[in-house]
Amino acid sequence: MTSLLVALTIASTVMTIPDNPCPSGWKYMLAEVRAGERDPTDIARRLMVKPDMLADWNRMSVRERLQKGQLLVFCKDLRPASVGSPSRGRLRAGVNMDADGDSRGCGWVKSPLRTTTWGTPETVAAVSDCLCRFKTRFPGAPDVTLGDLSRQGGGRLGRHLSHRSGRDVDLGYITNPPQSGGYFNRNARYGNLDAEKQWWIVKCFLDRGNVRFIFLNWPALSALKSFVKSRPELSSYMRFFSGGSSPVISADREHRNHLHVRFDCPPDDIECIE
Ligand SMILES: [Zn+2]
Repeated sequence: MTSLLVALTIASTVMTIPDNPCPSGWKYMLAEVRAGERDPTDIARRLMVKPDMLADWNRMSVRERLQKGQLLVFCKDLRPASVGSPSRGRLRAGVNMDADGDSRGCGWVKSPLRTTTWGTPETVAAVSDCLCRFKTRFPGAPDVTLGDLSRQGGGRLGRHLSHRSGRDVDLGYITNPPQSGGYFNRNARYGNLDAEKQWWIVKCFLDRGNVRFIFLNWPALSALKSFVKSRPELSSYMRFFSGGSSPVISADREHRNHLHVRFDCPPDDIECIE
């Protein structure tokens, strides 16, 4: 491949900068070598790119001697991705559930203090879709309390063990009386869970087909299971409860005031780890 070479004169050193070598979806950028950075391996660490890729983009070896002030081209991956696992990973080019910053959306409300509402495009699409359709199906229902998704770039989030790679969301239970103000201020019990409405939301996620786990507490799980058992037309959904053939819905002791939904790795996301 022939490419146009642009000659730049920096600090009396003549360098050739290759044409954009970046794959589609990556941003073409320039970086200046700093004092103490001797070769592409040194600067690759700072730019968070692989040394051999940086060397290739600049048509040099990974051990090529660099000078302070020299310019290197590099490529920054801007494609959305859930990188790594939910308990160790991060989020790249995520989407904010609360893009307009008003702490509410169609069918949901959150505390104004909560800003960790970033997820993969697939996560945000699924949550937005199910909560908005819930509101359409039950216009009088209170808005669902939206809890944490992930930080903008993912990574460790508060006391959560997961929520690091944009594929987890916490949603307040639908109780009588309801949670209010965007806070998880009601625990779910067998007797106060609005099983019909809660099941509608859970079923919406199951029907979309990209849910890996849903965690609830025992009383909420029992109430949902009783509801599904009471409706013959829902019998095929029993397979999603723990012990079934496609177990997705499990109970634990922690999820007293919210349920936790984990989504599958996005299709074609090769950096995502289940
Ligand atoms: Zn959670």
